[in-house]
Amino acid sequence: VTFSQLGLASWLVNALKAMSITSPSEIQTKCIAEVLAGKDVIGGAKTGSGKTAAFALPILQRLSEDPYGVFAIVLTPTRELAFQIAEQFSVLGKTINLKDVVIVGGLDMMTQAIALSKRPHIIIATPGRLRDHINSSGDFMNLSKVKFLVLDEADRLLTETFADDLGGILEVLPKKRQTLLFTATMTDAVLELAQPNPEDPGKPLP
Ligand code: AMP
Repeated sequence: VTFSQLGLASWLVNALKAMSITSPSEIQTKCIAEVLAGKDVIGGAKTGSGKTAAFALPILQRLSEDPYGVFAIVLTPTRELAFQIAEQFSVLGKTINLKDVVIVGGLDMMTQAIALSKRPHIIIATPGRLRDHINSSGDFMNLSKVKFLVLDEADRLLTETFADDLGGILEVLPKKRQTLLFTATMTDAVLELAQPNPEDPGKPLP
């Protein structure tokens, strides 16, 4: 199967070619068409499997069709992962002038607030710092147009450490959105999200 056969537009296939990526990995084969079809997805995938492109590609394609407001939020447990994900989005999204922003702890709040006010298409964040911005921004941070929520390393995100911040973020996101969840291991918390709807591999988060 080719990237085109999975439904990807030629500008994305060309962006992949420029990175010497010519055939989809297993997780990409499983996810891309599903995401393009509007479905929620739960993917079992470790780092190195090509999982970042598995969600970035279909999100970029949808974004190119309707670039309005903050389009997608990607949550990940660590700063390093956030920067790695942003790097792949930037490379793949170059031809559509993608504006993405990384929101993680340990960096200046004000600089981040300015970047957020410039209406990025995609926010890649660790939960704690994104929550801080949501709490301190009042009406400035409009997340009402978000179409995609990605939980990267969901097994690590769906733990006590992040529960409170995750809850605060979900509260301000529209209920009508696609949720894409990637996990290395199927923990109870991940399975709990997956279980209620076995027909559809994903189900919206509460
Ligand atoms: P990830 O699993 O998302 O951390 O990706 C690991 C690395 O694999 C990244 O550097 C990607 O550029 C690369 N990659 C992603 N998809 C493919 C693919 N289909 N074929 C070869 N390499 C890929």
